[in-house]
Amino acid sequence: MNISSSEVIYALNALLGEGGILESSQDMSRYAVDWAGDRLGSPLAVARPRTTEEVAGIVEFCHRHRVPMVAQGGHTGLVGGALPDAGQPELVISLERLNQIREIDPLNFTLSVDSGCVLQTVKDVAAEHECDFPLSLGAQGSCQIGGNVATNAGGLNVLRYGMMRQLVLGLEVVLPDGRIWNGMRALHKDNRGYDLKQLFIGAEGTLGIITGVVLKLFPQPQETRTALVAVPDVFAALGLYALARRSCCELLSAFELIPRACLELAFEAAPDLPDPLETPAPFYVLLEITASGPVDLEAMIEHLFDSGMQAGQVLDGVLASSDAQAARLWRIREAMVEGQQLHGEHLRTDIALPISTLGNFFNEANRAMAAISPQTTVIAYGHLGDGNLHFNLLPPAELDLTAKRVLLHALETELFAIVEDYQGSISAEHGIGRTKQTAFLDGLSELERELISDLKQLFDPDDLMAAGRILPRVTDPAIHY
Ligand code: FAD
Repeated sequence: MNISSSEVIYALNALLGEGGILESSQDMSRYAVDWAGDRLGSPLAVARPRTTEEVAGIVEFCHRHRVPMVAQGGHTGLVGGALPDAGQPELVISLERLNQIREIDPLNFTLSVDSGCVLQTVKDVAAEHECDFPLSLGAQGSCQIGGNVATNAGGLNVLRYGMMRQLVLGLEVVLPDGRIWNGMRALHKDNRGYDLKQLFIGAEGTLGIITGVVLKLFPQPQETRTALVAVPDVFAALGLYALARRSCCELLSAFELIPRACLELAFEAAPDLPDPLETPAPFYVLLEITASGPVDLEAMIEHLFDSGMQAGQVLDGVLASSDAQAARLWRIREAMVEGQQLHGEHLRTDIALPISTLGNFFNEANRAMAAISPQTTVIAYGHLGDGNLHFNLLPPAELDLTAKRVLLHALETELFAIVEDYQGSISAEHGIGRTKQTAFLDGLSELERELISDLKQLFDPDDLMAAGRILPRVTDPAIHY
């Protein structure tokens, strides 16, 4: 940085005007912490632009004066990417005020928005025009579209609609030197050479700040059926999944694996939630089918239950008979995540495996975790229809914080080694950020490492934008590339 902090604040205040820059530690406090309660350092200042041009002005200024910067959306990312650095003060660029709906075109099934729009707002706007934006996740009331693009978010409906990568048609991005790339075309087909927007999707803000997004919409579902099904084991859940894919006319939109231990966590966080089935089962599947036209979904799901029972895959089940009952079933899915938070320090993962290998993986990984620490509780649930498990670990409560961290690190190392044996991924949806960096780098080939660092070098040669996320800082002596 070739300028003092107070000069940065003075110049950006002039650029953004009243309320555009926050600088007191009290005002900046909520920008230094994420959903999980993690906190690293304090921002140099927080810039809150309202327009793409203001973002470009800030970034150009930072580029000229070598000021490190990081984009921040709704702070719900789970790998520490949006948190300001502990060592080197960074300017946080919060997109929260860049939040206008730009244009909706229901005939083209597209919606153009500023990147700071909250996901729930985008879904509501689409619904007002009888359209659906299908990205759905627990954090949708807080996370922003820009954050969703930057992390290539997945969520509950990926098996039907794909991840954010499949839902973005156009992007507007401020590059690390302040230039604006306008790729805001609302085209369903566009084969003009390299697809530049894909470089920024999932790049976690390391190649540019996303300011505008053209989203792909779908017809709004008119009919929905939600069911919770008890199954004896993961293999049965997988069999039921294959059956559902084949018999539900491609209308299956969610298929979530929930072990009994997760239900118990949900009841801890939300004691009012009723146990949905009379007899507890080892595992459950929460599934949903939706249709935008007249289809007898009830008959479809009953046929699925019957076939599953005959095949020994289904033990019991409940089909929601009202929207309120469906909401209660989905509340279990949310509450179990809140329940984990109540247990303090724990390991969160979001691994992906070929769907067909999930049963064997599940058993092998459970055995391996028990061999290292029999008292650790495995909480492995997830988007089974995407081969994506949150294989989370709760360490024994009696350990102190340091001992918990040492144990969780050992367990994570072993878990990731098994994931690698199964040709899986250590990150299905949360990204790399800071917390998965070592495992990510260790899993790269020499060629991959070279290509990735060349890409970063091309866009951000001075390593000013989200430095230390995905790749280590260029100045880091331990750097691999
Ligand atoms: P932030 O947390 O603010 O930032 C995340 C990353 O994106 C950071 O690296 C940041 O620098 C970068 N970034 C943010 N905005 C921009 C921008 N405009 N331009 C460039 N870079 C930017 N994720 C899933 O994929 N699937 C799930 O099912 C899911 N469920 C969740 C449930 C809960 C309860 C919670 C807390 C999180 C969940 N997540 C899930 C993770 C999280 O919600 C997503 O990663 C989300 O996309 C992050 O959006 P955000 O706006 O909060 O981004």
